[in-house]
Amino acid sequence: MRIYFDHNATTPVEPSVAETMSSALVSTFGNPSSVHHFGQQAKKLIDEARTAVAELLGARPSEVVFTSGGTESDNLAIRGVGELAATTNHRCHLITSAIEHDAVLKTVTTLGKRTGWRCTTLPVNNQGLVSPKQLADVIDDETSIVSVMHANNEIGTIQPIRELAAITHSRGALFHTDSVQAAGKIAIDVKSLDVDLLSISAHKFNGPKGVGALWTKRGIRFNPILTGGGHERHRRAGTENVPALAGFGVAAKLAMRKIETGDSTIQNLRDRLENSIIETVPGATINGNRDLRVPNTTNISFEGVEAESLLIALDLDGVSVSTGSACSSGSLEPSHVLRAMGLSSSRGQSSIRFSLGLDNNESEVDQVTRILPTLVSRLRNLRQSSRMPAHDSPTVATAPVKGTD
Ligand code: PLP
Repeated sequence: MRIYFDHNATTPVEPSVAETMSSALVSTFGNPSSVHHFGQQAKKLIDEARTAVAELLGARPSEVVFTSGGTESDNLAIRGVGELAATTNHRCHLITSAIEHDAVLKTVTTLGKRTGWRCTTLPVNNQGLVSPKQLADVIDDETSIVSVMHANNEIGTIQPIRELAAITHSRGALFHTDSVQAAGKIAIDVKSLDVDLLSISAHKFNGPKGVGALWTKRGIRFNPILTGGGHERHRRAGTENVPALAGFGVAAKLAMRKIETGDSTIQNLRDRLENSIIETVPGATINGNRDLRVPNTTNISFEGVEAESLLIALDLDGVSVSTGSACSSGSLEPSHVLRAMGLSSSRGQSSIRFSLGLDNNESEVDQVTRILPTLVSRLRNLRQSSRMPAHDSPTVATAPVKGTD
């Protein structure tokens, strides 16, 4: 039996999502821009998906721009707003936080290097939270966009988005949030969050990979980053991936249903796992704020253990987890998120992310908590003996470098 506890990296596609996608792939081949019957059939599927995604966000369908995923949505928001604001009203200052996903961090730093725009990175406290006061201190009348993530992919911490957006608006700038790790896990209402742009990605909530959306409040203007046809109301060119969008819509409906019914199964499993680890493994510490958190994520440091070694030991025992962010796999660099929280490098390098999903159950949680104390103590002993001069150093395998999640 294999156990998958890495749902922040990606989730398995729900059966009804897969059925909708395969039926669309086989039967709805028309180009949604075509006016004839086949085109209109495809367009109908896209319209349904747009309505479902809009409902997940408490938004209007016309405000949803479909993209190839979270990365493109983040790029479109920051580049699109940044470029337009720089040319129309000379606002050339971007603000983000130190714990963003690379889709935001690298977009901001790349824009800064290419254009000379000022870029400010907000710190976080030891709980992984951005302070609204610190935003108020650095924002100015040249700021075009502030981008702070809704929920963090490594520790799950939820940011004070409303407060941050209010400060941003008070200086005439726009607020974007990367909601890739929040969408489908917690209720989102773009109106009450008071944001201007919000990114989501289907594969984080049981939809297909390679499809996502940028929600943009009505009236917000930005430059498209892909030029071509007039798709997505001239906001994102390119023939739509109809089967993926149809699947995205079904995943959004499923997620919406779970959220509306207040289903707490995943949170209960996460808490059971977390509590039992803390009770049974000495030297285990939870990273990040425990209350302001998405319900499926826990990030735990195991003192005196190399996280990569624990990840591999767990994998050999049939359990898939992650060391914080997958981008750090294979390199022994602690994650930029844990570093920004001020964790020591040894604590950062000993941290494992467990992220649960719809397909998990209690017996999987119990299986992991049964094997973990022994694995941790074995790795601690190995480490100790490798430090003793008379012993040979054990070989520690490293995982291949992967993309970020
Ligand atoms: N933003 C966050 C917070 C993420 O966790 C991810 C995941 O990889 C992304 C953006 C990128 O999304 P995608 O994989 O759809 O490009």
